Amino acid sequence: MISGRRYRKPQFFVTEMHCSSTRFVAVSSVFILRYEPLPVTELRYLPDADDVTTFTATVTETTDDGVFLDGTYFYPEGGGQPSDRGVLEWEDGVADVIDVRKDHGEVRHDVELREGTLPDAGTTVEGRIDEERRRQLSRMHTAQHVVSRVVLEEYGASTAGNQVYPDRSRIDFEPASFDDEDLALIERRSNEAIDRDLAVVKENRPRDAVEAEVDEGRALLDLIPDSVDPLRVVEIEKFDMCPCGGTHVSRLGDIGRVSIVDHTSKGDDTDRIEFELEES
Ligand SMILES: [Zn+2]
Repeated sequence: MISGRRYRKPQFFVTEMHCSSTRFVAVSSVFILRYEPLPVTELRYLPDADDVTTFTATVTETTDDGVFLDGTYFYPEGGGQPSDRGVLEWEDGVADVIDVRKDHGEVRHDVELREGTLPDAGTTVEGRIDEERRRQLSRMHTAQHVVSRVVLEEYGASTAGNQVYPDRSRIDFEPASFDDEDLALIERRSNEAIDRDLAVVKENRPRDAVEAEVDEGRALLDLIPDSVDPLRVVEIEKFDMCPCGGTHVSRLGDIGRVSIVDHTSKGDDTDRIEFELEES
């Protein structure tokens, strides 16, 4: 049988939104025959529900080791942020969610069955996200915004790429060539902002408003098709704003303290900073 998943109407969708210039957005243009309408998984953590870690949803399709839902709060890997992990549970079964990925606009939960058999389409499941992992990733991702803003302000360098992990994260800046004094200043300024415990607002805003407000060096809006409107933005009050699809804490105080632990030159005017977080 031909899977309906492979046949869909032509459409654009944002697969990844991020603040760094090179990772800000990856747009997939999918042009395939429409066979039957398919649901696109609703990303329920957007625009501002990234503190929800328990939810119910309905299964739309199951493969040998993957479950698709009508909507999910699990964050699928993208934008330099790894996926959530957790559990799906239904009436007669339980499965660990070991990876979550975007698959042509839908979200695929890669699972390892613990009990029972995988749920059929139409089954109601409860999702439980690993809270500690989510919290760490949200702290790290928000810290990345802070450090990126500080470096843009102090050195005029853009974020060329980044990767956050629960325990350590990295950001590539360009043009940049930091010395020890610079790194100390970046760390100090970042922690000063965090100490102010500024609020982090996450919401959808009309695209033209975002285009008017976002600072050069914090996003490359040209890469997003005009049809993507509104945009989900993450604003740290009176400090930073950029479009971003990741998960973040709600106040900077939740980050703790940024500690820059490594620095390498990647050549071509690109410097990489690695940082860890300490609990406050
Ligand atoms: Zn972000």
